[in-house]
Amino acid sequence: MKFREIYKKTVEILSSQTQDAEFEAMCLMEKVFGITRTQYYLKADEEAEADKCAEMIKYSERRVSGEPLQYILGQWEFMGRTFFVGKGVLIPRPETEIIVEAALDFIKDKTAPVVFDLCSGSGCIGISIAAARPDSTVYLLEKSSDAISFLRKNIQLNNIQNIHVLKGDIFSDFNTVNMLKPDLIVSNPPYIESDTIPFLQKEVLEEPRMALDGGKDGLDFYRAISEHWLPLLNINGAVIVECGENQGERICSIFKQNSRIKSASYKLDYNGNERMVSAHADS
Ligand code: GLN
Repeated sequence: MKFREIYKKTVEILSSQTQDAEFEAMCLMEKVFGITRTQYYLKADEEAEADKCAEMIKYSERRVSGEPLQYILGQWEFMGRTFFVGKGVLIPRPETEIIVEAALDFIKDKTAPVVFDLCSGSGCIGISIAAARPDSTVYLLEKSSDAISFLRKNIQLNNIQNIHVLKGDIFSDFNTVNMLKPDLIVSNPPYIESDTIPFLQKEVLEEPRMALDGGKDGLDFYRAISEHWLPLLNINGAVIVECGENQGERICSIFKQNSRIKSASYKLDYNGNERMVSAHADS
């Protein structure tokens, strides 16, 4: 089979599952044949190795059965960096980049800031901050062993030194870090309402429920952050969290109930959806 033919066949198979069949097929070509898009166009009429064509079909079938493209590729881009992903860890979303941008903006005038990334998953938020600010110290808290193994590989892959991984639960392990005063707490916690989870897109259901399920109203983790973690904030510290649609107002009021917090507000992402809440501590 020629490169052109296996590409076309892959697009055909993927079309039943996704509207992005051409993009996804090219991602699989890049993975399987180790070629760039440009190289593909140059080689289109050359013969492709048969075993690799078989691999393309196998991956396409996995994709059609509902597995996320990112898990099949085994890696994904976030903030211009590569992160390993796979079963057991939430896939980094482009919308989450606004959390990192706001975090970097908040610490831009602080020297050697201490940052906590709670429920860090793949580590995409904390690692991006640590990489951009080598003088910072970033602590990543994660409960899932599966996620932690990706996290550690991602720290290595991105060659980050100023980072520490803590295995722990946001609801109970706040005491393990009570000697540290974070200047900034960041988090993309699970925030989907438990009852709506069965109705999510099939691909999202392949992701760990633990990374999605925010309890009955989706806000359990924000209450835990407010109650257990905001009291640790350094003076003039802040918390910046990702949120879901129609949660901004309610999360602001949860944070404002904490006496350490003097102001809270929410922001929309580039698609116009409520995506981020930030709150500032007293001085
Ligand atoms: N952004 C994810 C989604 O919409 C949810 C991630 C989360 O719960 N933190 O599927």
